[in-house]
Amino acid sequence: MECISCKGREGSFSFKTIEVRTILNPGRNSLFKKNRIPATRTQKLGDLRELSVCDDCIEKRYHEILHPWKEFLNTCKVGVILFVIGLALIVFYIGRQNILAIGGAALIALALYRFLKYWGFALRRKDEYMKFSEDNRRFALAWEIVSQSAPKRDGVESIYFVPITKATENMKREDFMKYYGLTKENADQFHKMLHGKFKAASQRLGQDSLDDREPNTELTEND
Ligand SMILES: [Zn+2]
Repeated sequence: MECISCKGREGSFSFKTIEVRTILNPGRNSLFKKNRIPATRTQKLGDLRELSVCDDCIEKRYHEILHPWKEFLNTCKVGVILFVIGLALIVFYIGRQNILAIGGAALIALALYRFLKYWGFALRRKDEYMKFSEDNRRFALAWEIVSQSAPKRDGVESIYFVPITKATENMKREDFMKYYGLTKENADQFHKMLHGKFKAASQRLGQDSLDDREPNTELTEND
């Protein structure tokens, strides 16, 4: 199976996953209360899918995490622009129109705040990945790549994927709601699948043993 990220090489790390499909019905807004229809979300479980990542993409991602300069510039584009404008304001207007120079200093302060926030996140993430065992690190990196590269839309439906591992198998229904955002009905259905029909479904995927590692899906920049 080809790598989901580079689409060129053969994937060496595979995940069994299930699709979660969501349709957002935008409803209708109106001046008159009786004509309003509130927006609703409908969520359903989709197909079982196998998603693979190749070693090169895993290595590349790990390198990016250890040396996050490129990601820094991409993530903090707005901050970099503010910083440059702020610097220009100070250089041109200091001693002439001090109010503009002060505005420039404020922009620089905003930009620096953004940079520090990103950099703190990048360092925490780097630490975390370095502390992982080799296996866990590969797993977390592969899952990160899968989550980012897998299709996110199909027509009007938005899609995300829940990994099926031994850890998932041991989870309770509430955990599916809490960690994977499933509705109560879908959490029930998923739980039944894993403990009943799932065996057959899993064989269809050509998989005889399940993964017992747990993906690191918790780490976000907002931590
Ligand atoms: Zn690849």
